[in-house]
Amino acid sequence: MTQDEVLKLFKQSEALLEGHFRLTSGLHSDRYLQCALVLQNPQQAAALGAALAARMRAMAAPPDFVIAPALGGILVAHEVARGLGVRGLFAERQDGVLKLRRGFRIEPGEKAYVVEDVVTTGGSTRETMEVVTQAGGIVLAAGSLIDRSGGRTALGVPRVALAVLDVPAFPPEECPLCQTGSQAIKPGSR
Ligand SMILES: [Zn+2]
Repeated sequence: MTQDEVLKLFKQSEALLEGHFRLTSGLHSDRYLQCALVLQNPQQAAALGAALAARMRAMAAPPDFVIAPALGGILVAHEVARGLGVRGLFAERQDGVLKLRRGFRIEPGEKAYVVEDVVTTGGSTRETMEVVTQAGGIVLAAGSLIDRSGGRTALGVPRVALAVLDVPAFPPEECPLCQTGSQAIKPGSR
């Protein structure tokens, strides 16, 4: 699946909107991503997961499992794991810290791919990598459906995204769209 095909799928599902948006962070941006909208279609989720699985497998040895941070990464881990024929785990926040819960176990020496829906700063991916290494596992590679950092986020392991976007975000007082008199909207708030 090429970057253009991936972005077409996102736009058709309204998972990638263009306009003037107020992000959860409070920053303004001309593009908004809501991966849940493209993943709500199981066939699309499976196709994206298989594509990411193939890209990761091309740059790293096969893993024993795939893991993602909840909630946004759960379906991605599930579909990438399906593509690779391994198990899919997720880590979730408890008192602000990502942890393995629900009886999920990582055996020492087990190898992992860490995945996410969208990488912006890589913070959640890095935290998930720590969950793996603290349990004695080994992270082979990281992947996401979208990288909205323009490819600038370094994670210390090989990483890949199905589409790389360079999406600047601005504090409202510095937003070039606000300066044209346009009003930012908050998507998904209705
Ligand atoms: Zn603005």
